[in-house]
Amino acid sequence: MTTKKRDYYQVLGVSRSANEEEIRKAFRKLALEYHPDRNKTEGAAEKFKEVSEAYQILSDANKRTAYDRFGHAGVDTNGGAQGFGGFDTFSGFGDIFEAFFGSGVGGGFGARTANAPTRGADLQTSMTLEFEEAVFGAEKEIPVDRIESCERCKGSRSEPGTSSSRCANCNGSGQVRRSQSSMFGQFVQVAACNACGGEGKIVSSPCNQCKGIGRERRSRKLAITVPAGIEDRAKMRLTAEGEAGNFGGGSGDLYVVVNVKEHPLFTREGNEIVYTHRVNVVQAALGTKVEIPTLDGFEKLDIPAGIQTGETLDIKNKGVPYLRDKKKRGDFLIDIVVVTPKSLDDKQRTLLAQLGETLDEPSNRPEGDKGWFDKFKESLSG
Ligand SMILES: [Zn+2]
Ligand SMILES: [Zn+2]
Repeated sequence: MTTKKRDYYQVLGVSRSANEEEIRKAFRKLALEYHPDRNKTEGAAEKFKEVSEAYQILSDANKRTAYDRFGHAGVDTNGGAQGFGGFDTFSGFGDIFEAFFGSGVGGGFGARTANAPTRGADLQTSMTLEFEEAVFGAEKEIPVDRIESCERCKGSRSEPGTSSSRCANCNGSGQVRRSQSSMFGQFVQVAACNACGGEGKIVSSPCNQCKGIGRERRSRKLAITVPAGIEDRAKMRLTAEGEAGNFGGGSGDLYVVVNVKEHPLFTREGNEIVYTHRVNVVQAALGTKVEIPTLDGFEKLDIPAGIQTGETLDIKNKGVPYLRDKKKRGDFLIDIVVVTPKSLDDKQRTLLAQLGETLDEPSNRPEGDKGWFDKFKESLSG
């Protein structure tokens, strides 16, 4: 910038003895007139910059004193010595403009209301269930610590029988314009009214229970119905059981994460319950009838002759009920393990040896083999 700077007082059109308020008013008028968003005529942008710069200096007591004594040299806005080097762009001035006028002035900036209804926060807790409770469902009570609307005043904050009055400080709007200091000097900002907390009303007789807050923290025991078939790590959502909202906003939700305990006998795979049953070699070879434990009591089970380790039997409809269709249940699966005897007495060893003489060696040919097995064996013997 080589053009000679105009005197800041002249730029704002105020006298050298102007007070803060006069300077602020002058800037406000000129900034609204020349703001590049509002004024597209040639030179408006330059003018806006000039006005903003003048206001930055004259609205700050220290900088104004320096300017009064040394002129532009005292507050060099180009050399960067005062930290104003980057102010050739409008973004910086745009921020000043918004800080000065707040949002909602001139229609160009989105209005924000301080007392708009806000929804209460969602909460999350967890709950541990026995294996059987998850399978068949349960009625549970869970402790919840949450902020609720005050029971006595129903959130109105006023003692029942009294009423609140319109806040005189903000005239019921919930908003005030507030002066704020920043590196650019004094600005006015729209903010929630301190006197009424942004609600626009003053409670003259605060509720005795919540002391006029309207909400209170309470520890509750919530009764919840756990549906049959719920899975480990499932997240239940209890609508509107979270924290109470503000200014008429709805309550948040409560999420309950389910932990299902392990069972000593059973595991669960979706809607099926899996149980492992061991038989000895004779039971496996000849077949047998056994009673096995299920969640519905003991059930008779026929184990067919010739069963192998790894084979699975099932009992229909003794598994886990389907969440969406209570009448429908998964199956109860029995994994068979054939137990080979580890310590034999002489008699048993003799009997088994006699049996062994009558048995063929099991085939080790893979299922569906097409000659590969023989070829490989040939290649080994060479
Ligand atoms: Zn209350
Ligand atoms: Zn107010």
